Amino acid sequence: MEEYVGAIHIHSNYSDGTKSIPDIAQIAQSVDLDFLLFADHMTLKPLEDGHEGWHDKVLVLIGYEIQDPDNRNHYLAFDVDQVVSRDLAAPEYVSQIRKSGGLGFIAHPDEVRHAFDKYPPYPWTHWEIDGFDGIEIWNHMSEWMEGLTKKNRIKMILSPRKLLKGPTKFTLQKWDQLNSQRRVVGIGAIDVHAYAYRLWPFTLTIFPYKVQFQSIRTHLLMDRLLSQDLEDDKRTVYNALRSGNLFVSNYRWGDARGFRFWASHNDRWAYMGQSIPCLQGVDLLARMPVDCQIYLVKDGQRIYQAFGRELFHRTDLPGAYRVEAFRGKRAWIYSNHIRLTASQE
Ligand SMILES: [Zn+2]
Ligand SMILES: [Zn+2]
Repeated sequence: MEEYVGAIHIHSNYSDGTKSIPDIAQIAQSVDLDFLLFADHMTLKPLEDGHEGWHDKVLVLIGYEIQDPDNRNHYLAFDVDQVVSRDLAAPEYVSQIRKSGGLGFIAHPDEVRHAFDKYPPYPWTHWEIDGFDGIEIWNHMSEWMEGLTKKNRIKMILSPRKLLKGPTKFTLQKWDQLNSQRRVVGIGAIDVHAYAYRLWPFTLTIFPYKVQFQSIRTHLLMDRLLSQDLEDDKRTVYNALRSGNLFVSNYRWGDARGFRFWASHNDRWAYMGQSIPCLQGVDLLARMPVDCQIYLVKDGQRIYQAFGRELFHRTDLPGAYRVEAFRGKRAWIYSNHIRLTASQE
């Protein structure tokens, strides 16, 4: 398996971000990212302007972020070449993206913050609909904003990664529930803008791109190397995102490259995002890059734990299984689900 590590949900100066795409790609290269997925608000202008492609060692792919007329239900659309109309409700754009062959992710699904009137929450409100490929399970910007109060804001601005605790309970629960029905891919997102913030007498940049590129990362696993051919590589990356063979990490607590989670029975294997029949017993295995606290989660419940570099668990119980890893109390790695099924096929 080849592993490519990138950052998803990036705003550039095509919407409310603060740097150009070539500059952002250069910053990503300086911290060893392999790919970037841009999602400026309601525009594919950067795609039309030819910014998609290899910027030296970083693959830049361009989608956009959709919102409804009330500025709720933000949705990331990738693998698309047209912007939907601005007056659509979420059920309509989710189905349009699917029909056009695109890839859609629910953005910051459960924002609830109320500390500043200027920064209202933008939650997802249409859980009744289906047709999305995945959800952001961990959004750096929204977790940071949720934790922000008038009292702690200076500390929060000065060390924006320190207080990240992990995905919210609500999001994880929702994600586990969805996966008991079908595959719903969980991605990490940084939602980076690098806003300037006036804190008299200084102007500080909240979350410079470089800082955020060293926080929530998405690691894609694929069975081939990227070829440096844009069309080919675009297909490979989007297919990896669709397949769910990926995990999310917070780089602040260590480089998670090398983490793996798989299931096996005799000569059959299943990777993250896949299913495997389990009635005759299946082995679930996880491998960690360094010693850490590892939990095996089945249908939303932690059912087994281990400390070290390996987790092994044999079971014949159907369900959606995933792994989460902590360093001390710090949330570090979240795998996607492997589904164990009762059926013989
Ligand atoms: Zn948004
Ligand atoms: Zn955004």
